[in-house]
Amino acid sequence: MIDYHNILERINQTVSKEKDKGKIASYIPELANVDINNFGVHLHLVSGKEYAIGNSEQKFSIQSISKVFSLALAMSHIDTAIWERLDVEPSGNPFNHLSLLELENGIPRNPFINSGAIVIADILVSKLKNPKSDFLDYVREITGDNSIDYNYKVAQSEKETGYTNYAAANLLKSFNNLNNDVDVVLDFYFHQCSLEMSCSQLTKAFYLFANQGECLARKSRLTKSQAKRINAIMLTCGFYDEAGEFAFEVGLPGKSGVGGGIVALLPNEFVISVWSPGLNERGNSKLGMQALEQFTTLANQSIF
Ligand code: GLN
Repeated sequence: MIDYHNILERINQTVSKEKDKGKIASYIPELANVDINNFGVHLHLVSGKEYAIGNSEQKFSIQSISKVFSLALAMSHIDTAIWERLDVEPSGNPFNHLSLLELENGIPRNPFINSGAIVIADILVSKLKNPKSDFLDYVREITGDNSIDYNYKVAQSEKETGYTNYAAANLLKSFNNLNNDVDVVLDFYFHQCSLEMSCSQLTKAFYLFANQGECLARKSRLTKSQAKRINAIMLTCGFYDEAGEFAFEVGLPGKSGVGGGIVALLPNEFVISVWSPGLNERGNSKLGMQALEQFTTLANQSIF
């Protein structure tokens, strides 16, 4: 039996000794108001047991982690037709990079860089009756938790400073890869990114990706094949230009966000979420990555 409790304690000790915690994202001004000393981990085994340390119940801005939920919801509406408008290749570039998008005629490399997530947002705006509230309902349903909500201040703050995302959306529009108005699609995208969840809620929400498409609440589900494909995209594209490094160090599919959260999973075994708001130069949680590296090493569990 693996002593998960002990492993999380050891991770907590290592992290608390670390002096360089990275830097909090400030390009979305409202995100800068977070204490860099926050640190939490939540582990949820597919068999049902849960383990936690630190601020695992405190909500934070999940930002790009939300791109996994929007992809899952879009796939459950149109599945394979998505891939006529998007690719599934790692970009090797920062999440907000634009030049590849122009070179590749408005087809984003994958759904987890910003331009790709904006195409997914466009699909959801077309498909959903009340896009923002339907998306929120979906996340609440797969998590089994109605307390989850958007942070309207964060959404507004990103809207006021989101010049690069406006540029990406306009470029997509010029290549005919955006059906709705730029403002409407970005309003949806900024709200989806502003969702606030705790590590504990994130592990519950991601349970369906570790459990072959069936979520904890057993209501919404993906097919086995959809869950497999989303995990593959998390592995190859979940960490932007650090996807290779994450696979090398941690060896799990996962997704990060500039709020400092990371969720990773081992299919059929567990989901683990980490939150430490300080980021490395590539926009991924510095101590979060370190903690997950230590976790898969000590537990001797990864997909490899
Ligand atoms: N909302 C953020 C943005 O579009 C998400 C970025 C991220 O978490 N990597 O810039």
